Amino acid sequence: MGTWGQTAGHPGDKRKCAAQRFSPGEHGCAARGGLVQCRIDITIIGGGPAGLRAAEVAAAGGAAVTLFEARPTVGRKFLVAGRGGLNLTHSEPHEAFARRYTGPEQPDGLWASLLAEFDADALRQWAADLGVETFAAASGRVYPRELKAAPLLRRWVQRLRTAGVTFAVRHRWAGLRPGAQWQVDFQVEGGTRTVAADAVILALGGGSWPQTGSDGAWISGLEKLGVAIAPLRPANGGWELPWPAAMLAQAEGRPLKNITARAGATTAAGELLVTRYGLEGGVIYQLGPALRAMPEPELVIDFKPAHTVEQLVKKLGNCPRNFLAEARTRWRLGDAAFAILANLPGHGPFTSAASLAATVKACGLKLTGPRPLAEAISSAGGVRWGELDSALMLRRLPGVFVAGEMIDWEAPTGGYLIQGCFATGTRAARRALAWRQNSSPNDSIPA
Ligand SMILES: Cc1cc2nc3c(=O)[nH]c(=O)nc-3n(C[C@H](O)[C@H](O)[C@H](O)COP(=O)(O)OP(=O)(O)OC[C@H]3O[C@@H](n4cnc5c(N)ncnc54)[C@H](O)[C@@H]3O)c2cc1C
Repeated sequence: MGTWGQTAGHPGDKRKCAAQRFSPGEHGCAARGGLVQCRIDITIIGGGPAGLRAAEVAAAGGAAVTLFEARPTVGRKFLVAGRGGLNLTHSEPHEAFARRYTGPEQPDGLWASLLAEFDADALRQWAADLGVETFAAASGRVYPRELKAAPLLRRWVQRLRTAGVTFAVRHRWAGLRPGAQWQVDFQVEGGTRTVAADAVILALGGGSWPQTGSDGAWISGLEKLGVAIAPLRPANGGWELPWPAAMLAQAEGRPLKNITARAGATTAAGELLVTRYGLEGGVIYQLGPALRAMPEPELVIDFKPAHTVEQLVKKLGNCPRNFLAEARTRWRLGDAAFAILANLPGHGPFTSAASLAATVKACGLKLTGPRPLAEAISSAGGVRWGELDSALMLRRLPGVFVAGEMIDWEAPTGGYLIQGCFATGTRAARRALAWRQNSSPNDSIPA
């Protein structure tokens, strides 16, 4: 029977249906096949990909869905992601995919089961159903053919409206109170508004790029209700180190290509970018969790991962002096690598090919800390997994579900973030539909 709460009856039945609130004909409740069927109310708060996906699933399941959003429009961070081409998901195999999601207290097998419910193929099919073709780049990252978010978001919102989702923008969530239904409080222009809901799905996002609306201000509201939250911290963001001025003059804005780097026991391969304040790029994003765990974060770069120390020394031949200048050509050191090696604190000119080769293979850089959360691509921290059951429902607030980046998980760039939001949005909405049915025995009153 999908997600309709049922009350036995007949057309014209004067009895109220689910929770004794509505008569047939009211609020989408209808007398069908001798039964008065009543739509359940699902309130979704947050108009990012997790909330929009939850709205889609809940509406398809037959619920009356209203999506509340603090800002005047939905999907602002999704649009920002579109500036980089909108990396929707990744094409790597399922097992490796599920391992990308990390965070404390994550139940074993959780992500495998979330992705089994909505995986990368499902996301690509979802885009295709919106008329948006996707392709997998050589890196395995999946993008819309047009590399844009705006057309996709426009069609998505239109499809949600057609499916009956009501949008209530400029509604800032302010609190929740239990009752026969959840009483959900919002700050609106000129005052407050309270709405009642059978189930609530919170999809309020993390704390990066607060100008898009995801400002983490929801934390105090949930903490007041006793929900434990891990502090939001920058993930997939840059790290700072005080480059010498001479080095910056030569290398600011230049890439370090085809390198590997490690933080403690974790290694990553790819690229970095030298910036005014330190380093950015995929390699340091991947190493973020390991760096955050180090009391004195240090990045060790291998500028020539395809060569051993011995091979590098051999390539320098019988060079008697000016090892670095010679290595620049013979080892094909890029400008940024050369500038870093030429200005390494505590190192005078290299006095042998062996010492230079050893440094090129393991160049330690002490980092002073991550760039601010506001600049990061995503956040670590959020609602602790211990607060949630497998339905993504808050154990202490039955009927309130959570989805998206506001849960305490993190993942590298590569499409894993949006995929994670879709998978958790799907799970939360499906379980919200099922929870309401199962939790309301009075919805089925014998004829
Ligand atoms: C520069 C940049 C590039 C990115 N590129 C990619 C990419 O290519 N691929 C990828 O996978 N990911 C990317 N991401 C990350 C991705 O955009 C996020 O992980 C994703 O948007 C999170 O979705 P969400 O629905 O959980 O939260 P959000 O998208 O943050 O949405 C949360 C919504 O909740 C609303 N809200 C917050 N508080 C309240 C409140 N109190 N009341 C009502 N509404 C509220 C906010 O206004 C917002 O609309 C990028 C992020 C950035 C910043």
